[in-house]
Amino acid sequence: MPIYEYHCQTCGKDQSVLFLSQKDATSKPLCKYCGARRMKRLLSRVVYHQTEASRLNFFDTGNPRDDSFYRDSRNVGLWAKKRAKQMGVDLGSQFEETVEKARSGKIIDDL
Ligand SMILES: [Zn+2]
Repeated sequence: MPIYEYHCQTCGKDQSVLFLSQKDATSKPLCKYCGARRMKRLLSRVVYHQTEASRLNFFDTGNPRDDSFYRDSRNVGLWAKKRAKQMGVDLGSQFEETVEKARSGKIIDDL
């Protein structure tokens, strides 16, 4: 379920709007403060709907990350992927699978 940040152009309040599906997210929500429909989506602050490709682009392997970074399961495996990309190495589908398992917590059961 995607969550988007909106700015109400009528009352000026920012708010997060949760959509039940990607399809719903194409419709404009009503401001929960004043009920106006003049809502502007703040693209820079999309919380959920960020593709892995864009995460990889912004991910800097040169900087050490603190624990909180890795508590976001979507970041698991990102470092290895970025490095592999930089070195032109194809990690293959086996790696993708392992990352997916690690992200969903299944890897503990399988090992
Ligand atoms: Zn409003």
